[in-house]
Amino acid sequence: MLDINTSLKSVPRITPKYIRVMEKLGLFTIKDLLFYLPFRYDDFSKIVPLSNDFVGQAITVEGKITKAKNNRLFRRKMTITEIILEDENENLLKAVWFNQPYILENFPVGSTARFSGKLGMSGPASTRGDNRSSTRLDSARQARGGKYFSMSNPAFEKSTRDTTNTGRLVPIYSETSGITSKWIRWQIKTLLPLAKNIPDILPEEIRKKYSLPDIYTTLLQIHFPDDMEKLLRAQKRMAFQEMFLVQIRTLEIRKNWEEKDSNKIEFNEKLIKKFTLELPFKLTDAQRKATFEILKDLEKPRPMNRLLNGDVGSGKTIVAAISALQTISAGYQTALMAPTEVLARQHFESFCEIFKDYNINIALLTSSYKLISSKDTECPIGHSVSKDRGELLKEISDGKINLVIGTHALIQKDVKFKNLALVIIDEQHRFGVAQRATLQSETMNLDDGNKKAIPHLLTMTATPIPRTLAIAFFGSLDLSILDEMPKNRKPIITKIITPSERNNIYEFIKSEIKKGQQAFVILPLIEESLSESMVDVKAVKEEHARLSRVIFPEFKLGLLHGKLKAKEKEDVMEKFKNKEFDILVSTSVVEVGIDIPNATVILIENCERFGLTQLHQFRGRVGRGKEQSYCFLFLSSRDAINRVSTLEKTNDGFEISEHDLKLRGPGQFFGTIQSGLPDIAMKHLSNVKLIKFARTEAKDLLEVDPKLKGHPLLADALKKFSEKIHLE
Ligand code: ADP
Ligand code: MG
Repeated sequence: MLDINTSLKSVPRITPKYIRVMEKLGLFTIKDLLFYLPFRYDDFSKIVPLSNDFVGQAITVEGKITKAKNNRLFRRKMTITEIILEDENENLLKAVWFNQPYILENFPVGSTARFSGKLGMSGPASTRGDNRSSTRLDSARQARGGKYFSMSNPAFEKSTRDTTNTGRLVPIYSETSGITSKWIRWQIKTLLPLAKNIPDILPEEIRKKYSLPDIYTTLLQIHFPDDMEKLLRAQKRMAFQEMFLVQIRTLEIRKNWEEKDSNKIEFNEKLIKKFTLELPFKLTDAQRKATFEILKDLEKPRPMNRLLNGDVGSGKTIVAAISALQTISAGYQTALMAPTEVLARQHFESFCEIFKDYNINIALLTSSYKLISSKDTECPIGHSVSKDRGELLKEISDGKINLVIGTHALIQKDVKFKNLALVIIDEQHRFGVAQRATLQSETMNLDDGNKKAIPHLLTMTATPIPRTLAIAFFGSLDLSILDEMPKNRKPIITKIITPSERNNIYEFIKSEIKKGQQAFVILPLIEESLSESMVDVKAVKEEHARLSRVIFPEFKLGLLHGKLKAKEKEDVMEKFKNKEFDILVSTSVVEVGIDIPNATVILIENCERFGLTQLHQFRGRVGRGKEQSYCFLFLSSRDAINRVSTLEKTNDGFEISEHDLKLRGPGQFFGTIQSGLPDIAMKHLSNVKLIKFARTEAKDLLEVDPKLKGHPLLADALKKFSEKIHLE
């Protein structure tokens, strides 16, 4: 007897060959397979008689087979299967398939069938041999001036069968080599009755309240929907369920964090006032508000866990600096972590400058730099003192160093602090969701010199994350948003460039370089893949060579791509920063988060291949200095012009990311790191109401049943879920 937990190996129809493929997809039991959801549907639900009205549409036609044959084209090594079907009005449809001769066996002349596909009109016949075809087709053709109805490669089914592959909303599953959607459909169809025994993890009260179908109905309708409305209800229920789990998990993490102790850092109003008054600029209202939120958090005896979300250039550094100043003035240490050495060094230089009038000792600790800038020496960095690691570590553990800046090197075991009270992580959207989780737990285990208290945590991200998404995924964090740019910024001039204007832009770049500026050239990945392939590296090398030889022979061009070693990448960036290159040609996966105020032009090839958010990120590489900056978006397909033109219209990162979320869904905001959520939940993430409801229900549930003792199914689902994804 099969039940939902039976291994797929015990299902009679599934042979070992298929087992191997399914295991690769993570499918082991019948239940796993039943939860393998379609990613889209072909709408073949319209079963209609043949008519000119439907030409160009996807429909299903039902009728009698009047003719069927395989034509072998020996020279082209191809078989064409041709079947003529006559519908109830005696109209004829010619269906053809390529290289699937076995189809013929299913449809002997005189039997009835359903074909689904896009209805076309064909003819007059182009092959000479076709002249001898059926007289009925000929007469039907004559009636229509030599034209007849046609379908190429339609889905097919005997009329005697249930509608599975034709005549309905047909589910399409993501396929891998060895299994087709059709095969999966067939397996699921036969196993679906077992779904009656799947226990429903969503409490009945919640289902009732939001009119969500039970799990059996949901699976039934998701795999073989009766109609669009029922499908949408089923999808909504799945999305709700996932979001509900996300929210429970998020709230648990939050509670866990809130139960920890931390050092209370008193608000030093006089000092902070003095510091902000001495700044060469006035803080924006957004900076002021974020700073206030952070300083308030620091005063509490439980650790802060806050995300500072602000566009590139919105001024996160100074907010971080004020938080550090407050912490240090209270006698504690602060650590700042950046994803790369170059960025860590950049921060070191900024903080030396920012704190030059304060009695604060700053150290830079990465695998290649061990620098110190204490008050016995001079800032900026040219004058800072290089120390050996041991000596530096000692000064950190002595508490002589107030602010330690570095890479991951900071969280190695031998780094001991005297009294670390604040950790700032500048992720520059590089640390992914999962990595951040690790960092956070590592932060908790840092030897901060005080076993009872853990440091306050401030994360900064330069990807403007749409609010709904932030609530959904970072609900365990508090959020401060810098949605306002400093006033003195010159907006970057952005322009979509069509191929005919290419040379003008090259000329423009030359004139900018002659003025002493620098430029970026960014190439997209050629294939849709998570990481750079050799093909991409080849492409960027070729473009670098072409630009160096043909377009910009008088200038120096640097080359950057993902297959370089980390050290090599940093060298190239460093050289670009030092103006040893005029132009940097780079692929997209490479971190270009470094501040190069002198770069005023960024040119992006095939911009239609990027999401808006990503394009906006690239654009943020320029516009950091006093000069006017430009972003040129080279467009090779006009289809994308509307989408991309959003960038011409606005410089507001949050507006762009909201727009992008609607267009392309939320997956992209997690970079190359998968969120782990099923597509179905992801698709609904722009649904604010659904997220809010899920959050409310999760809160209410945890209030009455914090350990989920009364909801074992849910507890179990949650456990599996948290093994899969991290939400900290
Ligand atoms: P990001 O948010 O990308 O980290 P930064 O903190 O590096 O941005 O700030 C970018 C630049 O803007 C820096 O040169 C900084 O000194 C400057 N800046 C920050 N806040 C303001 C402000 N309120 N007014 C004017 N300039 C500012
Ligand atoms: Mg920054």
